[in-house]
Amino acid sequence: MRVGIGYDIHRLKAGRKLILGGVLIPFAKGLMGHSDGDVLLHALTDAVLGALGAGDIGDHFSDKDPRWKGADSRMFAEMALSILKKRRFRIVNMDVVLLAEKPKLTLYKQKIRASVAKIFNVPSSSVSIKVKTNEGLDAVGKGQAMACYAVVSLRKG
Ligand code: MG
Repeated sequence: MRVGIGYDIHRLKAGRKLILGGVLIPFAKGLMGHSDGDVLLHALTDAVLGALGAGDIGDHFSDKDPRWKGADSRMFAEMALSILKKRRFRIVNMDVVLLAEKPKLTLYKQKIRASVAKIFNVPSSSVSIKVKTNEGLDAVGKGQAMACYAVVSLRKG
Protein backbone atom coordinates (compact mmCIF):
# COMPACT_ATOMS: atom_id res chain seq x y z
CA MET A 1 0.00 0.00 0.00
CA ARG A 2 1.29 3.47 -0.90
CA VAL A 3 -0.11 6.97 -0.30
CA GLY A 4 0.62 10.22 -2.14
CA ILE A 5 -0.31 13.86 -1.58
CA GLY A 6 -0.74 16.60 -4.16
CA TYR A 7 -1.35 20.34 -3.88
CA ASP A 8 -1.80 23.06 -6.46
CA ILE A 9 -3.01 26.65 -6.76
CA HIS A 10 -3.84 28.69 -9.87
CA ARG A 11 -4.82 32.31 -10.34
CA LEU A 12 -8.24 33.16 -11.76
CA LYS A 13 -8.47 35.41 -14.79
CA ALA A 14 -11.50 36.90 -16.55
CA GLY A 15 -12.28 35.35 -19.92
CA ARG A 16 -10.43 32.04 -19.36
CA LYS A 17 -12.33 28.74 -19.47
CA LEU A 18 -12.88 27.20 -16.02
CA ILE A 19 -12.06 23.49 -16.17
CA LEU A 20 -12.10 21.39 -12.99
CA GLY A 21 -11.51 17.65 -13.08
CA GLY A 22 -11.97 17.78 -16.86
CA VAL A 23 -15.41 19.42 -16.51
CA LEU A 24 -16.11 22.79 -18.14
CA ILE A 25 -17.87 24.98 -15.54
CA PRO A 26 -19.77 28.07 -16.66
CA PHE A 27 -18.12 31.07 -14.95
CA ALA A 28 -16.83 34.52 -15.92
CA LYS A 29 -13.27 33.59 -14.88
CA GLY A 30 -11.01 30.63 -15.49
CA LEU A 31 -7.70 29.33 -14.14
CA MET A 32 -4.49 30.70 -15.59
CA GLY A 33 -1.65 28.37 -16.43
CA HIS A 34 0.66 27.11 -19.12
CA SER A 35 -1.84 24.24 -19.59
CA ASP A 36 -5.63 24.50 -19.27
CA GLY A 37 -5.08 25.30 -15.55
CA ASP A 38 -7.11 22.35 -14.22
CA VAL A 39 -5.96 22.71 -10.62
CA LEU A 40 -7.90 19.63 -9.50
CA LEU A 41 -6.33 17.29 -12.05
CA HIS A 42 -2.89 18.75 -11.30
CA ALA A 43 -3.23 18.05 -7.56
CA LEU A 44 -4.57 14.54 -8.25
CA THR A 45 -1.87 13.73 -10.79
CA ASP A 46 0.83 14.90 -8.37
CA ALA A 47 -0.72 12.71 -5.67
CA VAL A 48 -0.55 9.66 -7.97
CA LEU A 49 3.05 10.49 -8.93
CA GLY A 50 3.87 11.08 -5.27
CA ALA A 51 2.55 7.67 -4.26
CA LEU A 52 4.69 6.13 -7.01
CA GLY A 53 7.76 8.13 -5.97
CA ALA A 54 7.82 9.40 -9.57
CA GLY A 55 8.34 13.13 -9.08
CA ASP A 56 5.71 15.70 -10.05
CA ILE A 57 4.01 17.05 -13.18
CA GLY A 58 6.74 19.68 -13.64
CA ASP A 59 9.41 16.96 -13.80
CA HIS A 60 7.59 15.31 -16.71
CA PHE A 61 6.09 18.35 -18.49
CA SER A 62 8.11 21.58 -18.29
CA ASP A 63 5.99 24.75 -18.17
CA LYS A 64 8.63 26.32 -20.45
CA ASP A 65 7.92 23.78 -23.18
CA PRO A 66 5.68 25.29 -25.90
CA ARG A 67 4.31 21.80 -26.66
CA TRP A 68 2.29 21.88 -23.42
CA LYS A 69 0.89 25.39 -23.90
CA GLY A 70 -2.88 25.17 -23.42
CA ALA A 71 -2.53 21.40 -22.90
CA ASP A 72 -5.53 19.36 -21.80
CA SER A 73 -4.56 18.32 -18.25
CA ARG A 74 -6.04 14.85 -18.85
CA MET A 75 -2.77 14.22 -20.68
CA PHE A 76 -0.85 14.64 -17.39
CA ALA A 77 -3.18 12.17 -15.67
CA GLU A 78 -2.66 9.67 -18.50
CA MET A 79 1.11 9.99 -18.13
CA ALA A 80 0.84 9.23 -14.39
CA LEU A 81 -1.45 6.26 -15.15
CA SER A 82 1.03 4.81 -17.62
CA ILE A 83 3.76 4.86 -14.94
CA LEU A 84 1.30 3.31 -12.49
CA LYS A 85 0.50 0.47 -14.92
CA LYS A 86 4.18 -0.15 -15.71
CA ARG A 87 4.87 -0.51 -12.00
CA ARG A 88 1.81 -2.74 -11.57
CA PHE A 89 -0.05 -0.58 -9.08
CA ARG A 90 -3.75 0.19 -9.00
CA ILE A 91 -5.62 3.09 -7.45
CA VAL A 92 -7.54 2.24 -4.27
CA ASN A 93 -9.06 5.68 -3.65
CA MET A 94 -8.67 9.37 -4.37
CA ASP A 95 -9.75 12.12 -2.00
CA VAL A 96 -9.89 15.77 -3.06
CA VAL A 97 -10.46 19.07 -1.27
CA LEU A 98 -11.03 21.92 -3.70
CA LEU A 99 -10.94 25.46 -2.31
CA ALA A 100 -12.95 27.95 -4.36
CA GLU A 101 -14.90 30.97 -3.22
CA LYS A 102 -17.04 31.21 -6.38
CA PRO A 103 -18.87 29.84 -8.30
CA LYS A 104 -20.98 27.53 -6.12
CA LEU A 105 -19.51 24.16 -7.06
CA THR A 106 -21.80 21.93 -4.99
CA LEU A 107 -23.96 21.36 -8.07
CA TYR A 108 -20.96 20.11 -10.05
CA LYS A 109 -19.47 17.75 -7.47
CA GLN A 110 -21.07 14.60 -8.91
CA LYS A 111 -20.16 15.57 -12.46
CA ILE A 112 -16.53 16.21 -11.45
CA ARG A 113 -16.51 12.93 -9.52
CA ALA A 114 -17.73 10.98 -12.56
CA SER A 115 -15.23 12.74 -14.81
CA VAL A 116 -12.28 12.07 -12.47
CA ALA A 117 -13.35 8.41 -12.17
CA LYS A 118 -13.39 8.13 -15.97
CA ILE A 119 -10.02 9.88 -16.40
CA PHE A 120 -8.27 7.68 -13.82
CA ASN A 121 -10.22 4.58 -14.84
CA VAL A 122 -11.64 3.81 -11.39
CA PRO A 123 -15.23 3.44 -10.15
CA SER A 124 -16.91 6.62 -8.86
CA SER A 125 -17.08 4.98 -5.44
CA SER A 126 -13.26 5.26 -5.29
CA VAL A 127 -13.37 9.04 -5.79
CA SER A 128 -14.30 11.69 -3.23
CA ILE A 129 -14.67 15.35 -4.19
CA LYS A 130 -15.10 17.96 -1.46
CA VAL A 131 -15.56 21.64 -2.23
CA LYS A 132 -15.07 24.39 0.31
CA THR A 133 -14.84 28.16 0.34
CA ASN A 134 -11.94 29.84 2.12
CA GLU A 135 -14.33 31.89 4.26
CA GLY A 136 -13.31 35.07 2.45
CA LEU A 137 -9.70 34.75 3.60
CA ASP A 138 -6.53 35.11 1.55
CA ALA A 139 -6.28 35.04 -2.26
CA VAL A 140 -8.65 32.08 -2.58
CA GLY A 141 -11.22 33.73 -0.33
CA LYS A 142 -10.97 36.96 -2.32
CA GLY A 143 -11.75 35.05 -5.50
CA GLN A 144 -8.29 35.57 -7.02
CA ALA A 145 -7.33 31.90 -7.11
CA MET A 146 -8.45 28.30 -6.60
CA ALA A 147 -6.42 25.76 -4.66
CA CYS A 148 -6.68 22.01 -4.37
CA TYR A 149 -5.38 19.25 -2.10
CA ALA A 150 -5.50 15.58 -3.07
CA VAL A 151 -4.57 12.30 -1.44
CA VAL A 152 -4.37 9.05 -3.37
CA SER A 153 -3.75 5.51 -2.16
CA LEU A 154 -2.41 2.72 -4.32
CA ARG A 155 -2.10 -1.00 -3.99
CA LYS A 156 0.29 -3.34 -5.77
CA GLY A 157 -1.17 -5.81 -8.25
MG1 MG B 1 -0.86 23.45 -11.83
